[in-house]
This record gives sequence, C-alpha cells and structure tokens, in this order.
Amino acid sequence: MRKHIVAGNWKMNLTFNEADELLDELMSELEKVELPRDEQVVVCPPFPYIEMASDYANDSYFQVGAQNVSDKDKGAYTGEVSAEMLESCEIDWCIVGHSERRAYYGETDELVAAKVDQLLKHDLKPIVCVGEVLEEREAGRQFDVVKTQVEKGLFHLDTENIKKIVIAYEPVWAIGTGKTATPEQAQEIHAHIRSLLAAKYGKEVTDEISILYGGSCKPGNAKELFACPDIDGGLIGGASLKAADFMGIVTAF
Ligand code: PEP
Repeated sequence: MRKHIVAGNWKMNLTFNEADELLDELMSELEKVELPRDEQVVVCPPFPYIEMASDYANDSYFQVGAQNVSDKDKGAYTGEVSAEMLESCEIDWCIVGHSERRAYYGETDELVAAKVDQLLKHDLKPIVCVGEVLEEREAGRQFDVVKTQVEKGLFHLDTENIKKIVIAYEPVWAIGTGKTATPEQAQEIHAHIRSLLAAKYGKEVTDEISILYGGSCKPGNAKELFACPDIDGGLIGGASLKAADFMGIVTAF
C-alpha cells in the first residue's frame, strides 16, 4: 500500500558537467532494471541543475526534487526559491527540515511547518526530515525529540494533507559519518513515528504514509534496512553521488 521511495540528496556537490554525467549514467542504469511498480526513485540536485535533471526525468524512470523551499509566497526575499516557482518548473518533490538546514541555517519546526504548507499549496510532495543528534540519543531522548519534530512540523495538517507527506527519519549522528543506525535502532523509531501518526490520524491513514531512513545508507546495508516492516525506503546523501552506489540502493528492495 505504501510507496517504496529511494531519494538522492546531492546536497551542494558536483559541477554542471559532473551532474550531467551522473544523470546520464543513472538513466542508462535505470533503463536496464525493471523496478517494482510501487517503487519511486527521486533525484534532488542543487537548484541550478534542476532543469537539466527534469529533462532527463522527462524520459521517465525518476522524478526530480528540490532540497529546500521558501516559507514565503513571493516577493523581496533575495536568494529564496518559492514553491510556486518549483511547481512552475514541474518539480514533484522537495526535502524540508534537513538536519543540515536545522543546524546551519537555524530552521525551526515552525519554519518546517510553514514550508510544508507552501509545498502542499503548490502540489509538491514534501519529504520532511526528522532525527535526533548524538547527545540526544546518548541521553535516551530520541523518541521525545522525534515526537516534537513530527508534532510541530506536521500535526497542523488535516487527514487529506498528511497523506501527501513522506517522512525521513535521519539520525543526525549517522549522516555523512559512515555510522549507520542498526536496523533495530531505525525500525524502533520508524514504528514510533507510525504510532504517533496512527494516534492522531488513525491506522488507515498512517498505513499510506511512507517513512524513509537516512544516514550513511549504502548498497551494503540498504537491504537489511529496507527489510524492516516500517522502513519504506531511503533518503540517500553521499551514496547518491555515484551511479553504481545509488543503483545498488535503488535495487535493494
Ligand atoms: C542525508 O544527508 O540526507 C544523508 C542521509 O546523508 P548520507 O547518506 O551521506 O549520510
């Protein structure tokens, strides 16, 4: 019932030519495999390459996402990109509340909620990131931290809109560190998130919401992570920058 999703977050990496090469490689690899009908591949390049990625994506196989969006409608907000602009470029997805944006750009749960609203208003699908930092895990606070992020970022949505959300659980201590959460650690937080959603929106609605895992996911560990009952795919950073690694994850279901 839930979609399996593998989304690549390129972050601030690659030049135009490198991006072109990666997209080209990715396309030719994707053409060779037959993905299950319930699996969606998403590529989130930096803004300047979105149009190029969309041109590749027009040939099918994957959809394109942005890595960030403004919480404002339009106007004098230098450097910002609105949801309306993304919609007009026919972008399907957008990452929101990534831990790097929370840590380096001061994004709060309130801002995440406002960005989610912008995206939904313009028919984009938000991939909303949550996850605890190392100190919070060491203090045993991971369940509370994630609960607050989910509640403040998403619980203002009604039943119809919550179904349009994809959540990515990304323990911050596992992002880009090579330290992956064990399948047990990931599964228990995914189950926790699903139980929070079920308590608020009911089980039927919750069963439609994909929850992805992110944090040093690689071809070598994707299979066992994706085999967990509440893990519906991955948000992939470093390993999305090499076609072979990304494909190893895309084909892990
Ligand atoms: C991320 O930043 O979303 C991420 C999961 O990064 P990495 O795969 O490199 O840990």
